[in-house]
Amino acid sequence: MKITYPRMGDWTAPLGGMLEQMGLTVVRPPTPSDRTRNIGARLSPEFICYPLKLNLGNYVEAYELGADTVLMAGGVGPCRFGYYATIQKDILADAGYPMEFIVLEPPKGHALSLLSQLRKLVQNVSLCDFLRAVEVAWLKLQAMEDIHILANQVRAVEAVTGQTSAVYKQQIALLDSATTVESVKGLWSRAREALYNIKKVRRERVPVVRLIGEIYMISEPFANLDVEERLGRMGVCVENTLSLVDYIRQNLIADVLRMHRDRSLQEEARPYLAHFVGGEGVESVGNTVRAAKQRCDGVVHVMPFTCMPEIVAQSVIPTVSEEYGIPVLTLILDEHSAEAGIQTRLEAFVDLIQNKREAVRNRV
Ligand code: SF4
Repeated sequence: MKITYPRMGDWTAPLGGMLEQMGLTVVRPPTPSDRTRNIGARLSPEFICYPLKLNLGNYVEAYELGADTVLMAGGVGPCRFGYYATIQKDILADAGYPMEFIVLEPPKGHALSLLSQLRKLVQNVSLCDFLRAVEVAWLKLQAMEDIHILANQVRAVEAVTGQTSAVYKQQIALLDSATTVESVKGLWSRAREALYNIKKVRRERVPVVRLIGEIYMISEPFANLDVEERLGRMGVCVENTLSLVDYIRQNLIADVLRMHRDRSLQEEARPYLAHFVGGEGVESVGNTVRAAKQRCDGVVHVMPFTCMPEIVAQSVIPTVSEEYGIPVLTLILDEHSAEAGIQTRLEAFVDLIQNKREAVRNRV
């Protein structure tokens, strides 16, 4: 069995490393490219959501590299995600890329069953090695998230354009190659140091923009046309609301330890959207309210074309924006989106939030 999995930016690298440490033969999904997008768009129904198209393109590329099995999460709820595995498997088989799918279903209150599903995959590994691989992957994920946050802060004030991204990529690759807890800890602190050492310019106050939206779109730079990097180069500090660490803490660890889940985002969204609509719809609304309360300068909402949960969120967010006075830019993306259009809209948005700040300062 040669296994691959859906790529979501850098965040799925610890999963690949963990499976390798457990002794599985892993074909890492290639970084998405124009070719990935073209394959996915050619094989997919036209109005299916963009993440499915990019995933499909990635699976074909992994198949060409020898993969025969896809490991992915299952889903429940009103959006299409629960059907992804079945649809993708059929499309791939019809197109001449037969692949097996192993779907890890959401734990729904039984997180240990998820670990036992994973354990079944790697029966030849001792329990001790299995748990060690999980521990290394968990620490790696925390390290990667931490330096991602730091990189976004540094990029907004870097003296030499592009230096932060270069250092960040280098440090992520080093972390990815670590195989012990000690090496992850060492590389983590060296990565922080490397980012701190980047030469910076002095700014009176750096505008802060919160990135919200559908999970795949805010995690995969190719899908969102490098929105974080573009804003960073315009001198904006981006706070990405994606946190797989938090997601795992809330949905797996709290579940195993029978702790209460944090429902504060749902509470923030409640006056505007009180029901689960699938995907990250409620979270997008809650995150907009929270960004306004925490005095962020603006919100960038990224969603795939035809994404049902985000369409619902998009219809509610203007009310939040008006009531709290926070500017929101919604970017609806698919394979037809062009870089120049996104760049222009982001530049106009940054001008808007800077002018707004200036106006407030002049009033005081
Ligand atoms: S959340 Fe949106 S993009 Fe993701 S699977 Fe559901 S409909 Fe598709």
